[in-house]
Amino acid sequence: MARMAAGIALVCGAGGFIGSHLVRRLKADGFWVRGVDLQFPQFADTAADDFVIGDLRDPAFCRQIVDRRFDEVYQLAADMGGAGYIFTGQHDADIMHNSATINLNMLDACRRRNIASVFYSSSACIYPAYNQEDPENPICSEASAYPAAPDSEYGWEKLFSERLYLAYNRNHGMRNRVARYHNIFGPEGTWHGGKEKAPAAICRKVAMAPNHGTIDIWGDGSQTRSFLFIDECITGTVRLTRSDCEGPLNIGSEEMVTIDQLVDLVADIAGKAINKNHIVGPTGVRGRNSDNRLINEKLGWKPSAPLRAGLEATYFWIERQLQRNALAA
Ligand code: NAD
Repeated sequence: MARMAAGIALVCGAGGFIGSHLVRRLKADGFWVRGVDLQFPQFADTAADDFVIGDLRDPAFCRQIVDRRFDEVYQLAADMGGAGYIFTGQHDADIMHNSATINLNMLDACRRRNIASVFYSSSACIYPAYNQEDPENPICSEASAYPAAPDSEYGWEKLFSERLYLAYNRNHGMRNRVARYHNIFGPEGTWHGGKEKAPAAICRKVAMAPNHGTIDIWGDGSQTRSFLFIDECITGTVRLTRSDCEGPLNIGSEEMVTIDQLVDLVADIAGKAINKNHIVGPTGVRGRNSDNRLINEKLGWKPSAPLRAGLEATYFWIERQLQRNALAA
């Protein structure tokens, strides 16, 4: 006899990095899952029961995919990328227009279907630039978001959309959840082509370099960041969704490293001596770290896996991608 599903879930952005991992987790939890995206996942088959290709900027398409009262809705679709995409200014209009339109459409489609709650993935990029000038002591507690001064239009759109989801809570009786992700990384994330983030870019550069080789690093290498492994991001996402906390809550790691330290860690994992050539490039704020006091208080949980463990999994996955590409060439 067929087993009853634990519930029905909708994942927007299911062809992307975090969305494709989230679909797998929801399937493991026993959900029937519909994924939606402009594209199928790049690196593995989707685990979704139903996968719809379409453009969430189209309100009619959003109403069409929200055709039932889903128990859990995750809105991860966004026009995004790493520093090379977000901080050059060349994509600002697209980023703001595309992502805001998706959020406006999806939230309204869910409200019309009487869906109680949508999970929204905001970003650490909403935090004010003025609190992130000291690489040793960045301030990223949830309450520090205002007075607002994000350093990118990507961050401004995220802030607008956070407020949109919370306004629907106040005015339409919804219980939307907002998380602020901090630099998520792991296998099956973009690793080349211009939209990749620092961990993937550094893993690729180290994997391609010979022993004692030199790789280019954007900035002086002393800018600080923390990086959260994908599995912990998914755990935090699902925990927040199923909690009674609306957020916003940081979902990030508190293990802050400089970019140079990140390179050294990856080089050590690769077993290579690597020299760094610091070049001018888009770097974002000087320092950023997650502050996990609030998530710990609200959910009784915070991410805790060491950076090195996640980097090992990511480095060897990217190395395998490179080997495959070389074999195909
Ligand atoms: P991603 O780019 O891999 O996934 C986003 C997906 O959205 C893509 O597959 C893309 O095709 C899809 N999409 C974009 N426009 C669409 C449209 N018009 N219609 C349908 N689908 C569309 O990004 P990700 O790393 O998986 O991030 C997921 C979410 O988390 C995003 O909202 C992102 O802003 C947020 N976030 C991610 C990080 C991170 O470090 N990865 C950090 C902070 C916030």
